Amino acid sequence: MAKDIEAAAAAEGGEYTAKDYADPPPAPLIDAEELTKWSLYRAAIAEFVATLLFLYVTVATVIGGVGILGIAWAFGGMIFILVYCTAGVSGGHINPAVTFGLFLARKVSLVRAVLYIVAQSLGAICGVGLVKGFQSAYYVRYGGGANELSDGYSKGTGLAAEIIGTFVLVYTVFSATDPKRNARDSHVPVLAPLPIGFAVFMVHLATIPITGTGINPARSLGAAVIYNQHKAWHDHKKLLFTHIDKSTTPVSRALVNNRWVRDIKGALSAQALCEFLQVWDLIATFNTTQGQDDKRIWKISEDGNFSVSSTYNWFFKTNVLAKSARLIWRTRAPTKVRFFMWLLLKGKCLTADNLEKRGWPNQGACPLCQELNEDCKHLAVCCTYSNTAWRMDQEVLLEEL
Ligand SMILES: [Zn+2]
Repeated sequence: MAKDIEAAAAAEGGEYTAKDYADPPPAPLIDAEELTKWSLYRAAIAEFVATLLFLYVTVATVIGGVGILGIAWAFGGMIFILVYCTAGVSGGHINPAVTFGLFLARKVSLVRAVLYIVAQSLGAICGVGLVKGFQSAYYVRYGGGANELSDGYSKGTGLAAEIIGTFVLVYTVFSATDPKRNARDSHVPVLAPLPIGFAVFMVHLATIPITGTGINPARSLGAAVIYNQHKAWHDHKKLLFTHIDKSTTPVSRALVNNRWVRDIKGALSAQALCEFLQVWDLIATFNTTQGQDDKRIWKISEDGNFSVSSTYNWFFKTNVLAKSARLIWRTRAPTKVRFFMWLLLKGKCLTADNLEKRGWPNQGACPLCQELNEDCKHLAVCCTYSNTAWRMDQEVLLEEL
């Protein structure tokens, strides 16, 4: 078909041109006039809103736990919708990688590209913030929808997967918006957002198992910023502490007329409010002696001063030494004998009671006296037969001595 047009142009004797389509002139690097136009800012606002909506819907889907197919549909579908909606306003980039690609191809000016990328990043952060606000419980469970390399994949694999995925997306964007398309394949109607949305869908299917699929730097950034901030905040033991900026008030003064309350700043969440009420109750009955300085007492050490050794010793406070441990381990008997004695002392020999616990076959009664149940204590000490044996031993020893 292209040849037909070229041949026709030549036949008509008109000026022969290699191109049967019109390339738009390259965008200037910096266009001062562009800055004065409202359309530029309107476009930036469109990018902000679109990225916000994109991140809101997709991250909410990720933490909703709908599986890879559902997540891929959410990303692809949202890109389709949002590119369709904003194409007429901003060009519908919604992705810094796309903006950067179009900038390299001189389709957008540097000013526009920078403004878009800033708007996309801010929109992404706000979008994820919105998800966190709505779905805080699921948000934590699914890692805030942040991109992470899966187990068993190297960083190089992750990078390669992201490069290929981003290439597929940007290539599709260029292809769908190519002016040549209108000239040569004018019989194929082009709805640019559809192939772009499908490219996003396909790439997600392929790379979610590897990296969770970034391909959109704004998406990765937004999720990472909000999730890291979330982690930083919640690593604190008590949420209430995060509301206290800096307090140099001594305890004695803080307790007068509940002055400590004044150090708590900002709106309290339900959890912080709960902690606040707990602290209030604890402090209510607390009295201080007037004129005495505040003192810190380290309970573990005797003099009340903190020492590392006291903390270390605290680990062994509950450590109890068996009375006969020393007797057993100091003897010169072979190790296997000492070890057997140790097991006997701990009641860990495979006597009938221990076999029964494991559900293994056992004879139940003591094989010596056939009267009582067999366990370590009985076998070693209580049984009349073993008692007799011990006594015989003793008698032999007494005779020798
Ligand atoms: Zn017995």
